[in-house]
Parts: sequence; C-alpha cells; structure tokens
Amino acid sequence: MTHLQARGVVKAYGPTPALRGVTLDVAEGEIVAVSGPSGCGKSTLLHCLAGILRPDVGEVSWRGDRIDTWSESARSRLRRTEFGVLFQFGQLVAELTAAENVALPLLLAGTGRRAARTAAVNWLDRFGVAELADVRPGEMSGGQQQRCATARALVTEPRVLFADEPTGALDTLTGEQVLTQLVRLAREQRTTVVLVTHEPRVAAYADREVVLRDGMVDHTGLGFEASLGG
Ligand code: ADP
Ligand code: ADP
Repeated sequence: MTHLQARGVVKAYGPTPALRGVTLDVAEGEIVAVSGPSGCGKSTLLHCLAGILRPDVGEVSWRGDRIDTWSESARSRLRRTEFGVLFQFGQLVAELTAAENVALPLLLAGTGRRAARTAAVNWLDRFGVAELADVRPGEMSGGQQQRCATARALVTEPRVLFADEPTGALDTLTGEQVLTQLVRLAREQRTTVVLVTHEPRVAAYADREVVLRDGMVDHTGLGFEASLGG
C-alpha cells in the first residue's frame, strides 16, 4: 500500500492556484525530494501532505486513510505523533536548552521528564552535538541549531519527516553534513522523508526527485545516489 498519497491536489491562496492538481505517491521508507523554482508550490504541497493545510480539491491519504477530511485537532495530533516537521530555521525555543528543546515533543506526548531527557540527549548524540545538551540556541552556530532542530523532529520517531529547506540557511559544507546525518538516521529508522528544496545538490540525497513547475508535477526522476545504485 502506498504510504502517503496526494491525488489531484489543488490549493489556492488567491486567484492563482499555488497547486493545480498534484498527484504523488510516496512509498514507506522512501526519501522524496520535492524541487523546482521558488514559488512553484513546494511548501504548499508539503503543508498539504503534512495535514497543515487542507486542499481545496483533491485528496491526501496516509496509510489508506484520507487525512484531508480529518478535523484540525486530529491532524494536529497526527503531526505530533506519526509525522515530524522540520523547517529552514529550526525554530528552537530560545529560552530552552538543546536537551529541553529536543525533549519538548516527548513531554507534549506524555513521556516522563527523566525518560524525555535521556531520549533527547541520545538524539543529540546521534547528531554529534551531545555536548550542547545544556546550551541555549543563542550560543550555538547555525549548523548546531539545525542539528538540534533535526534531533527534535526525529525524537518522537515519526513515520514521516517533512523537511522544508532544512539546510537552506546553512553554508554548503554544513548543510551537506546535516543532510547526510538526516538521511542516514532516516534510513536507519526507515522513516519516510519528504524533503523540499530548490537546490539540485540537495535533491541528489533523495531516492527520487519530484520537480514542480507552476503548481504541477513537471517530471519525476531518480535522485543522484539512486542512479548510482547507492
Ligand atoms: P515554493 O515553496 O515553491 O517557493 P510556495 O508553496 O511557498 O512555493 O508558494 C506557491 C505560490 O503560492 C507562490 O506564488 C506564493 O507566493 C503563494 N503563496 C504561498 N503561501 C501563501 C500565502 N500564505 N498566502 C498567499 N500566497 C501564498
Ligand atoms: P519558501 O522558502 O518555503 O518558498 P517563502 O519564503 O516563499 O517560503 O514563504 C515563507 C512564508 O510566507 C510561508 O509561510 C508562505 O506560506 C508565506 N507566503 C509566501 N508567499 C506569500 C504571499 N504571496 N502572501 C502571503 N504569504 C506568503
């Protein structure tokens, strides 16, 4: 069964639709890059797939259930449990330490403080930033912040990670390091990833690249690694 699916999704904010009938199937454990020029609808598609926005027309399904018809609270619950969402600027809470930031989704899900802290430090360690556990975002580099934000997005072990330009604010080398870690950990967990990017270099980390143009799927291709049999 298809893991995540969009069928004929149309979404408009004004007179010109941002999405004009997008159909997309994502398999379990697949890493799909959604690419294309600025304004082509990438973020809107990600928001529709993640249940943040409701399509005007069309369907979004998760494990065969139409989530676009779910209530806001049901979709919000889905985003706290089976889905994880990561944005360009990690949006860490400035007042909290790295460990407190990463523990937050677990605390919201009802995990006890001690277990949440242990899991948070463990995830920071997987991203090579365990030493930052008690440091606040303001004292970290951009790359360190985004590693923490990625750890926070994965700490609940979501089945799908939605990442919108997750390395867009980082320099090339740091961006590639964070992305390599993200992809490695996603593969270890068999996490499905929908990765929005306008950079071909970033799309090359995916199994498949879906290129949007003017709110439609222009074409689909294999990611660079997949084409090398990696
Ligand atoms: P991308 O992520 O590819 O840059 P977006 O999905 O952000 O594209 O935007 C697609 C189109 O929808 C653009 O023309 C953009 O200006 C418009 N758009 C996006 N978000 C909004 C919004 N909240 N209100 C009005 N227009 C929007
Ligand atoms: P991205 O980098 O993902 O393409 P943008 O910089 O285009 O995002 O947009 C950032 C935020 O502004 C998003 O929340 C998007 O929905 C909103 N937005 C984009 N275009 C418009 C617009 N024309 N009017 C209002 N909001 C917009």
